[in-house]
Amino acid sequence: MIELPILAEERVKKPSWLKVKLPTGENYRRVRKIVDQHKLHTICESGSCPNMGECWGAGTATFMILGNVCTRSCSFCAVATGKALG
Ligand code: SF4
Repeated sequence: MIELPILAEERVKKPSWLKVKLPTGENYRRVRKIVDQHKLHTICESGSCPNMGECWGAGTATFMILGNVCTRSCSFCAVATGKALG
């Protein structure tokens, strides 16, 4: 099957809710500093969550308390898969 190039006028503009803002701001930097300083694992980072700019910008992050791997292997999730500690 041959795919034809999409013409400019055929392109559909993506809805605004599909776009995420780049993580910036004082709150974001504060959360970033705490996470880095204490070498914390967050599902936000491990899962490559697209909401980081919004959540961290509001001063919220969600921690993974037993490491940064998960024993499951869900295809939609970016968290590394591995064996549990212990
Ligand atoms: S707290 Fe926000 S950025 Fe972190 S995983 Fe949940 S939705 Fe994503």
